[in-house]
Amino acid sequence: MADDCLFCRIVSKEIPARLVLENEHVIAFRDINPQAPLHVLVIPRQHVASLNEAKDPELIGRLSLAAAEIAKQEGVAESGYRTVINTNRGAGQTVFHVHLHLLGGRDMGWPPG
Ligand code: AMP
Ligand code: ZN
Repeated sequence: MADDCLFCRIVSKEIPARLVLENEHVIAFRDINPQAPLHVLVIPRQHVASLNEAKDPELIGRLSLAAAEIAKQEGVAESGYRTVINTNRGAGQTVFHVHLHLLGGRDMGWPPG
């Protein structure tokens, strides 16, 4: 755990979040500023600052598989959904604990902004 990390504090339940999935390795919760009717963040329990620091393929793979599970639970798996990892400031990363955005419930434009 990184002391100054917002998402580590959500993992430790120091800061409340609207959880949608929790297992041994990952937790997922609703984004506080949703960009789509469904906007969930999936994060590893373990602190990894960004995809650039990630070493464990299982840890990264688990984020995608958890997102697919949530998409099914939330009823957007068939209509479609998007998963995004923003890495570093140029891509819009603001919280430096790696997280995968799951967006769904509306049509998505391409290319993304
Ligand atoms: P990014 O900009 O890719 O680093 O994504 C960070 C996301 O975290 C943004 O979509 C924020 O709206 C979201 N966020 C920030 N603080 C919280 C919080 N306390 N609970 C839930 N989501 C948050
Ligand atoms: Zn962290």
